[in-house]
Amino acid sequence: MKRVVTGGELTQRDMRPADIIHSYLTHVQDDIARFGLLEDARERDCPACGGQGAREFERFGFEYHRCRMCGSLFVSPLPAGIRLAEYHAEGAAERFRREHLLPSTADVRTRHALIPRARWVLAAAAGRLGLYPTFAQFGTETPQLLDLIRASATVVSWPDTSQPERDQVQADGVIAFDELERAADFAGGIHRCRRTLRAGGLLFVTTMSGEGFELCMLGQRANALVPPVHLQLLSRRGWNEVLAREDFRIVEYSTPGELDVQAVADVCRRDPAGRLPAIIDQLVHTDDEQVARAFQGLLQQACLSSLVHLMAEALRHGV
Ligand SMILES: [Zn+2]
Repeated sequence: MKRVVTGGELTQRDMRPADIIHSYLTHVQDDIARFGLLEDARERDCPACGGQGAREFERFGFEYHRCRMCGSLFVSPLPAGIRLAEYHAEGAAERFRREHLLPSTADVRTRHALIPRARWVLAAAAGRLGLYPTFAQFGTETPQLLDLIRASATVVSWPDTSQPERDQVQADGVIAFDELERAADFAGGIHRCRRTLRAGGLLFVTTMSGEGFELCMLGQRANALVPPVHLQLLSRRGWNEVLAREDFRIVEYSTPGELDVQAVADVCRRDPAGRLPAIIDQLVHTDDEQVARAFQGLLQQACLSSLVHLMAEALRHGV
């Protein structure tokens, strides 16, 4: 299976400016109360494999559980879908993210996220999907990303997969970037991606890992963890389980994240009470930039960084 490792110059300060992140998280907590996300929520088992979870920590009132079977991290009780939809459509936090957080980090996101992601998709498409493949994006469309994809592919609107009898677009590729972790109906989301793809087509997913270094070290103190955006953060085993059920085969699983070591160092510097194991503490707080970079590189090699890029092929016996 393919695995990509990157070496970058990305800094936590550029990608997650502290004052803006603080304001955003304040809005998030206000909206959680405003839309009653913690009311009439329902208990659930692991959305990846159906296994039982053990409570690991709480953040902003949401309980995160670790699956005893596959190691995925998930919110339970799960907020009602209609309340989540209101949060995303009408909330101040999402508006702040669109109008302040994303514009203030637009340059760095273009260089470190949008362009590498478009190149990743187009390189895989050139090797596996033939000339001018057709792509559809699951969830909220990202116009800038789709413009980059259009250089070598056709982009179509997401088909209405709710009506089985209607003619469906059979896309060569489906892009699901930073979407599946927030889906109130996770299994349904994966199913819709599969139904939109032809046999041999490719699903491209980016998401946060449930077993990445930042989350495992920081738990509820991880600033990158934002309920209700992160409802399910799967482990590698969890992705294998859920994708196999929909007749997918994973052909690439990489974790090219660049910020784990910096993020853990920042939080522990501000809050020395949260102790790390001694040897991890030395590696995280090293003054030697080469060592810090090598440690982050090792996390990528071991697929234990926080950012997951995965590519899966739709097999012939699909739905
Ligand atoms: Zn599980």
